[in-house]
Amino acid sequence: MSWIEKYLEILQCPYCGGDLYLDSNKLVCKKCKRVFDIIEGIPILLRR
Ligand SMILES: [Zn+2]
Repeated sequence: MSWIEKYLEILQCPYCGGDLYLDSNKLVCKKCKRVFDIIEGIPILLRR
């Protein structure tokens, strides 16, 4: 289990505060469906 899976519960979408889920090495917001890259094991949860 990667640390991302472990901390998925406390990670939030930076746009809407929604919950995130892992989808083939990216994080996806359950609410607004925005997709966030995971680069070298670090999720990039920044507004662009
Ligand atoms: Zn969102």
